[in-house]
This record gives sequence, C-alpha cells and structure tokens, in this order.
Amino acid sequence: MEDYRARYIALKRDYEASEGDAASVQALYEYKDALEEQSAPEAQWVLVDVCETLELYKTAYDALRPLVTRGDKKGQKRLGRLLGLQGRGDAFALPRPRGGKEEARQAALLAQLPRFRYHPNPFRTQAFRVAEPPVTCDCCGKPAGVCYEGPFYAVEEVTALCPACIASGRAAQKFDGAFQDDCSLEEGADCPEALDELIHRTPGYRGWQQEYWRAHCGDWCAFLGYVGYRELRQMGLVEEVLDDPMWAQWGEAPEKVLRSVENAGSVQGYLFQCLHCGKHLLWVDCD
Ligand SMILES: [Zn+2]
Ligand SMILES: [Zn+2]
Repeated sequence: MEDYRARYIALKRDYEASEGDAASVQALYEYKDALEEQSAPEAQWVLVDVCETLELYKTAYDALRPLVTRGDKKGQKRLGRLLGLQGRGDAFALPRPRGGKEEARQAALLAQLPRFRYHPNPFRTQAFRVAEPPVTCDCCGKPAGVCYEGPFYAVEEVTALCPACIASGRAAQKFDGAFQDDCSLEEGADCPEALDELIHRTPGYRGWQQEYWRAHCGDWCAFLGYVGYRELRQMGLVEEVLDDPMWAQWGEAPEKVLRSVENAGSVQGYLFQCLHCGKHLLWVDCD
C-alpha cells in the first residue's frame, strides 16, 4: 500500500510544483496506465486518486465503485461526489501530452501525404481522418484512405476530398471553392501566391464563428490546433501568447480572457505559429 501511495504522492508533488507541465502530466498518465494493470485493492485505491487528479472522473468512479462497501460512509460519500462529476465523462480531463503510439502512427501517415505549410499536421487538428473503408474523393473520383473533414466553401455540396486534390489546387479549381474566407485573414501578409496557397490549397479549420487566419512577419501563420488555457499552460506558451496586440480588442485583462479559454468549451482557442520567427499566436472566439 505504502509503495503505491508514496509513488503517487511524489508524482502529485511534481505536478503541483511545475503547475502541471507536460512531463508531470505524462508521468501521472503513465502511472495510471500501470495501476490499471494491477488487481490489488491497494493499487486500485491509488488509481482512484490518480484519476481524480487527472480529472478523469468517469474512470475514477468506475474504479472506486467495486472498492466501497456498504458500511463505508466516507467511501459512499466520495462515490456520490464522483457520480455528480462523471456526468461530464472523461472528456474534460487534463489533456494527455503528445507522444506515444497514436502520434507515431499519424507521423507515418503524414509522411506519405503532401505537405501543407500553413496546416502542418491535419491529423492532430482532425482536419484529416483515416477513412476505413476508403471513401471516394468528389474531385478525382479515386478511393481516398485519408479524407478531409474541414470546411470547404463552394456552391456545390462536397462531402469528401483527398489530400492530393487539396494540395494540387484541383479541388478548389473544380468546384470554384475555398478552404478559408479571404475576407477573414489578418492583415500584414500580401503575397498573392501565398494567399492562393492558403485559401485554395490548404486544409481549413473549424471555428465557432467565421474562421480567422493569423499573420506574422509578413506571411500567414501555420495553424497548429484547438487549445484552451490548460493546453497552453501544459505547452508552456501562456506568456508567449499573452504578448500580442490582438488582446486589445477584448477590452478585458488578457490574463482573465485567457483563463476562460477552454478546449471544446464555449470560449475556444486556436493556436497558430509564425513560420518565420516561430512565435505562437492565439485566436479566440465564442459560441
Ligand atoms: Zn482527390
Ligand atoms: Zn513572426
């Protein structure tokens, strides 16, 4: 018992001292995986604590239920509290830092696809998904094992596009469509060739409102993905994204707005990175 608990206490101390940096969260997740393999009740009790720390309330509830006996008042109370929280499921748990098998699988897939400068990892952003079985690309008519799921603004209804038809510009040309509205771009970049690449040959992303594309150093930025305050803190980017004149339009303290940004919440963050100086920039909108 002591060994399981001592390990958890040490991991939680690291987590709190680092304010939840990626390494400390990853270590907690790895410990959770290891505890799930153990059947000893001592391990299962610690598993409940680890899951609560990670805000995996549903998993915590499921692990606790078989451990609590009828006479265990304290346990019953905790079970009741977790039952209330688990309505949110595990969807709002602390995000698991990147890496691992899924990341490796996506990297291998990505290596076979055309490269998108302004949207470098469309799997991570869920703009692309693996289609099993393959779907038919509306543009080239060929089977597509990877299919685009993001926005495409065209008169005709287009349901499936393959990465090659996006990258070549064939899809935009054939349907006279665009992946990003050219009226919703940050000022500061004006190269017509780059503009054509961004709106006609780059997968888009999904915003609550009209998607807006950030620019920096005279060019558009790369879209990295959907984030909240917690993800930014984990990536160590809070200070960097706060250093941005964009916040002036909110009329509120930037720190306050940023703290309310939640991934998949009603105030959503979209993370970009400058392709020239490497600076990270955020865009925020509300539902
Ligand atoms: Zn195609
Ligand atoms: Zn820059």
